[in-house]
Amino acid sequence: MRKILIQLGIYKLVAFVLKRTSHFPIWSNLEIDIQSSCNRDCEFCPRFWDRTGVRKDKQGNQVITKMPSEKVYDLIDQACKLGFQGKVKLHRLSESLLDKRYVEFAEYIKAKGLHLHENTNGDVLKKNEALCAKLDGLIEHLTIGLYDYKNETEKQAEMAYWRSKFKKTQIVFSLPPENCTIRQGSKVYFEVQKNPKALDAPCTQPNRMMLVRYDGNVSLCCEDDGCHFDLGNVFEQSLPEIWWSYKHIKIARTLEKQSGRHQFDRCSRCYNGQERVNLLTEPFPK
Ligand code: SF4
Repeated sequence: MRKILIQLGIYKLVAFVLKRTSHFPIWSNLEIDIQSSCNRDCEFCPRFWDRTGVRKDKQGNQVITKMPSEKVYDLIDQACKLGFQGKVKLHRLSESLLDKRYVEFAEYIKAKGLHLHENTNGDVLKKNEALCAKLDGLIEHLTIGLYDYKNETEKQAEMAYWRSKFKKTQIVFSLPPENCTIRQGSKVYFEVQKNPKALDAPCTQPNRMMLVRYDGNVSLCCEDDGCHFDLGNVFEQSLPEIWWSYKHIKIARTLEKQSGRHQFDRCSRCYNGQERVNLLTEPFPK
């Protein structure tokens, strides 16, 4: 049915009308998942329990595939044509620096006047000084996950190392061992105490984020790597058709209200807005 509606141009027409009448602004963050894999298997990551074939297969082996380059360029071009000048990231639940095409995409994004922000576990960069030098300044803002330190001294040493490698890029650190977001699909989700009040909080992620998975399916938010809301696929529809679809706007408007999460199965179990959790079982050694 959807295919027929796409062929008839119905989605395009609805998006055109809603773009002009809904007062629903364009996204502020565009994330394009240029490839599917990650070299780590972290307990706090929603990839952890995936066996659907999106990130891991039934046996728990990694799915390794890439978005075609021409589609990556096409998405960047579509965003620019809409007047988007905000943040772009080249990953979803993946480690984008595993992709050898990263630098060419980064250069294209910069040439278009967009702002490249990235998250990494740092493993590729640690083995590649030349890549660090190439990306310094090309990436505007880099969040580096520190996952392996055992004490404060090691943590500070890691931070100093990364600051010495990047002089032009703004560096920040994510510290899941001490400051962990509770995410569905992770091992942590089932093991920590959750705050039921978080399930009543409004959520504005769908108003701000255009998230495209490597296979073209669009996620509603960071917690929807499974693309459970069936918003569309960029190989079949344009970004504006998906963003300004009736379905997307209706979901976003519902979730921005108090207790809106209870309207949707996935959201009704989402604790991502609650206070972060310290996973270190012992008091943090100085
Ligand atoms: S409440 Fe729903 S839309 Fe918001 S982050 Fe959670 S799963 Fe996503």
